[in-house]
Amino acid sequence: MSDPLARLIGELSRLPSIGPKTATRIAHYVLKAPPAEARALAEALLEVKEKLFHCSLCNVITAADPCRFCADERRDRSRICVVEEPFNIEPIERTGEYLGLYHVLLGALSPHRGIGPDRLAIPALLTRLDGIVEVIVATNPNVEGEATALYLARLLKPRGITVTRLAFGMPVGGDIEYTDEVTLGRSLAGRREM
Ligand SMILES: [Zn+2]
Repeated sequence: MSDPLARLIGELSRLPSIGPKTATRIAHYVLKAPPAEARALAEALLEVKEKLFHCSLCNVITAADPCRFCADERRDRSRICVVEEPFNIEPIERTGEYLGLYHVLLGALSPHRGIGPDRLAIPALLTRLDGIVEVIVATNPNVEGEATALYLARLLKPRGITVTRLAFGMPVGGDIEYTDEVTLGRSLAGRREM
């Protein structure tokens, strides 16, 4: 049986962006915290695993199936916004600019990591195209996200669906001289008439 403190540090170290130093700091914090606080943390961890799951239609994380987006009749059912991960949806919702449906791929295409179209929720997307006029591809602006966007465009355009991609450009408050050429290139390509 391993030392309980070492075990906690080990488990915390597995979390994304938590290194051994941070894990040690959190473990010692928990050690000093009142038992009720530690129990609340442990229960919260278990609760997300017990009560939440992926929506059977769009893969959003939800406690009810279908999720609040799929179930909401007021949303625009002619548009689907495709994202890589469930946590990509909240920032888009916060803009207040989008009222359509979502579809979470649960990843992005990556030939060198062996992730092909069959490993993503692309077949499920194809079953949802009835009445869809536009698919907005909001995958990340990196190699995998771009490859996924191109693949989806090739797949969906022949079905008469308009495929659009988020315009990635300069951050607000940014300087042209400090903007990398990929970002600046995307800004140019995505320019709009004034
Ligand atoms: Zn859903």
